[in-house]
Amino acid sequence: TYVVTDNCIACKYTDCVEVCPVDCFYEGVNTLVIHPDECIDCGVCEPECPADAIRPDTEPDMEEWVAFNRKYAEVW
Ligand code: SF4
Repeated sequence: TYVVTDNCIACKYTDCVEVCPVDCFYEGVNTLVIHPDECIDCGVCEPECPADAIRPDTEPDMEEWVAFNRKYAEVW
């Protein structure tokens, strides 16, 4: 899965939401989040993010961000 990280805080762009083929972005408290079970790992959103906030969970130490994204995506 891809995850939204702290650079997203207070970002007003939604370029990522517009390109996601499966609509797996949701509103968090002060960020967008990606539902980790719905993301199909296409990677299309990553280069669209002007804040460089979207990272693949294959990078080191992403467990907390996966949990953060899941927490706020699952309230919807
Ligand atoms: Fe959506 Fe693809 Fe980004 Fe996952 S990697 S959030 S499916 S655009």
